[in-house]
Amino acid sequence: MERKLTSKGIEKPLEPPKNGLLVPDLVPVAYEVFDAWKLLIKGLSELLHVIPVYGCSECSEVHVAPTGHCILDCEGRTSSTRHSSHAWVKGTVNDIIVPIESYHLFDPFGRRVMHDTRFEYDRIPAVVELCIQAGVDIPEFPSRRRSNPIRMFGKKVIDKGGNLEEPESLHVAKSSAILDFDTYRACERFPPPPLSDIPKIAQETIDAYQIVKKGVRKLMKKYTVKACGYCSEVHVGPWGHNAKLCGSFKHQWRDGKHGWQDATIDEVLPPNYVWHVRDINGPPIQSKLKRYYGKAPAVVEVCVQAGASIPVEYKPMMRLDIVIPDTDEAAMIA
Ligand SMILES: [Zn+2]
Ligand SMILES: [Zn+2]
Ligand SMILES: [Zn+2]
Repeated sequence: MERKLTSKGIEKPLEPPKNGLLVPDLVPVAYEVFDAWKLLIKGLSELLHVIPVYGCSECSEVHVAPTGHCILDCEGRTSSTRHSSHAWVKGTVNDIIVPIESYHLFDPFGRRVMHDTRFEYDRIPAVVELCIQAGVDIPEFPSRRRSNPIRMFGKKVIDKGGNLEEPESLHVAKSSAILDFDTYRACERFPPPPLSDIPKIAQETIDAYQIVKKGVRKLMKKYTVKACGYCSEVHVGPWGHNAKLCGSFKHQWRDGKHGWQDATIDEVLPPNYVWHVRDINGPPIQSKLKRYYGKAPAVVEVCVQAGASIPVEYKPMMRLDIVIPDTDEAAMIA
């Protein structure tokens, strides 16, 4: 049908946001996601003053407990020298929310990011860039808002209202508005809360996480997000970018070019599964009991340990109904 229209020289009508205009119904969703995202970072920063988190310095394993776990499954480069035990160091918010950043585009339909122009663009969390493209106005990261739709002939753009110069960058140093939505060094920005506030913060944080997840899924049904099939790069916008920085080991054969595909929500907001620790005061998690343990997204595990109630959707994977044998029994099983 589409081909027919084009070959007959008939212009294909485009719906928002494919025509560069905002989807009005999704503007409030974008604001909801953005506000929840900031709350999520603030809440996690506060909870991490109380809930201990460990990250492996050699691989991506994260563990939420008073000590690291003893499961020998490290796949880091030097793991053979440690008999595959992890090299635990104190974790940060970035161990809980894996940072996925993308280029901020003043006009997602404008000039493509090229390898040589990549430094002209800021890198911000992909979730935040999605919110901006869906209607959230952040003065430090201006966005072109069209009043006339883009017109296309098949895949060829015939009218996008020209290229507008991007306004002069406003974010001198890091303003507080930017820090609000950045996970880096977030813990240092929020002092430890009173212990009596922890369960309330935990509940608000897990609620914020659920709002972000649900909202991002909704926005991604209309707004295009691309992910590289070879590495973790994510691009928010109708086309990928041309920066040749693909981190995949196969990049030599592709000249560092990313392989763009439509992104899934897990690529934009990685669930980052960790072991669910049922008894924080119990013995550390161990290899021989591995089959009895469940898992949960790191955000959920932190919040649940801090007193939040468990959303139903995570209960099956957390294996709450499995009886974990104590160590003596386990010795007999093994
Ligand atoms: Zn490791
Ligand atoms: Zn890539
Ligand atoms: Zn290289």
